[in-house]
Amino acid sequence: MLHATGSLLTIDVGDRETETTTIDEELEEFIGGRGISTKLAHDRIPFDADPLGPENRVYLAAGPLQQSDMSFTGRMNMTGLSPLTDGILSSNAGGYLSRNFVGTGHSVVELTGASDELLAVHVTDEGIEFETVSALEGATVPEVTEEMNERHGLESENLVTIGPAGENEVRFASAMTYDERAFGRGGLGAILGSKNVKCISFAGDSAPELEMPNEDIQMDVHRQAATSDDIFRRQGTTHLVQVLNDNFSLPSYYFTDQSFEGVEQINGDRVEEKKYKKAACSVCAFACKLPTRDEATGFETEGPEFETIMAFGSNSGVDDIVDIMKSNDMCDDLGMDTISCGNTIAAYLASEEEFGNVELIHELVEKIAHREGIGDLLAEGIGRAHEQLGVDNWTVKGMDFAAHDGRVVHGQGLSYAVANRGADHMYSTLMIPEYNDVISAEGTSGKADVLIDHENRNAVRDSAVLCQFGLGRVIEEEVFEALFGTDYEDLLAVGARVVNLERHFANQRGRDADDDRLPYDIPNLDSSIQEYYEARGWTDDGLVPGDLVTDFARAADD
Ligand code: SF4
Repeated sequence: MLHATGSLLTIDVGDRETETTTIDEELEEFIGGRGISTKLAHDRIPFDADPLGPENRVYLAAGPLQQSDMSFTGRMNMTGLSPLTDGILSSNAGGYLSRNFVGTGHSVVELTGASDELLAVHVTDEGIEFETVSALEGATVPEVTEEMNERHGLESENLVTIGPAGENEVRFASAMTYDERAFGRGGLGAILGSKNVKCISFAGDSAPELEMPNEDIQMDVHRQAATSDDIFRRQGTTHLVQVLNDNFSLPSYYFTDQSFEGVEQINGDRVEEKKYKKAACSVCAFACKLPTRDEATGFETEGPEFETIMAFGSNSGVDDIVDIMKSNDMCDDLGMDTISCGNTIAAYLASEEEFGNVELIHELVEKIAHREGIGDLLAEGIGRAHEQLGVDNWTVKGMDFAAHDGRVVHGQGLSYAVANRGADHMYSTLMIPEYNDVISAEGTSGKADVLIDHENRNAVRDSAVLCQFGLGRVIEEEVFEALFGTDYEDLLAVGARVVNLERHFANQRGRDADDDRLPYDIPNLDSSIQEYYEARGWTDDGLVPGDLVTDFARAADD
């Protein structure tokens, strides 16, 4: 099976020591990206670790296809113990980092410990350098890029950076690369902040040797990406705004409504009008990114994407696309997940009956990033703040909801309930076959097997580190088999290992069936959760039996 090659580089930012380890056997079993990072996180982070303590570890990892010239591979994976969900969580970001990362010769870089001074860590194929950057305290993401460019000639595509939100340990702080691409969900930027790491740079020209099976398939995928007339290539994900609104499935006014009267001012057509050029990630000919400009003011940003339009638009009662562009841009500069930041602000707007107050929204974005006033409470996220705000808790396992509404696509609702990272749509993407009528959107019974297939496949997607937008369009089962030189079932088995390890770690932290809950009712949820546990081989209480992980991981009582 194709897998990443290259060493594990461990960097203790407290002691400023490094260690290089060979992990070929682990890579064979876990491919790369989320898979290898989950394996290492499970085995190396103490089960009782504080997500914001020095004992937490954070992993950056590529997969094997980041050494190819195939579209849909311009991405990188980041994994850690999430300060938002309290579980092992992986997030991936696009941009141009992946090729610079692979050029260092490492397949995984692990950060542990905590520095007593604000640091930049420079990783190249020639070694590691630690640089004290106290003058960058409080700097925004673009300010860090500018400084690193002046000092070292580094570009945004070399960097993983946090803004003030990460430094202030906002629980949904993102780590940014290429200035505007985010390792967004789950607060991985706050982990870097807790370690006093302002940025990490990657540069080198020493990618390990790797023989790819079936390179003609890669060419075919690339050709199809370049010639597709898919609407994603014009509007990115934003065409979904109108489609979901028309299907009464666009969360609005802090989830109290499911359609938005101002939708035509914030839909994909409005975003396309603002788009002023094409943009992509490394080597990707699909080029779905959305650089936007407001001609009236000259204001420019990238995006917003669909989920950001939900969180800062319909869910916050805002019907002006330029206002949402500004919220999006502020989050990128300050280093925060746009979905969680927008949803958390929507919770505050609900508590104050202030939906649509754009001035207040932009003020809150700043206050959250700097933990000023009410921003200090909101920086904790909805799960920890909702009681004080007096609003319903629209989260699962601390993760606030993505736009795809489980009250309408019930299988996706089941997915939100059981997913190890909570109410995030990318974990299973089961809403896609439900939208497309491949399976009925109605009900949850009998969906456990297809949900598990989707979760396992997506764990492989993230281990390979492939872009979701290639799946279901170009990268189908037989393409997976050709790319990896193995049976699809073998790949799904890798995905199952990853999901089991995440769950096993959560179990050791006290997580069980009581955490697999939704804030709303959908048909037969309880019995479908039991079907899911049984099909996974878990207990009725949602626990992973030791024999599902002991072959390849630390056992519970180690
Ligand atoms: S499809 Fe879009 S998001 Fe995915 S790698 Fe290509 S340009 Fe990046």
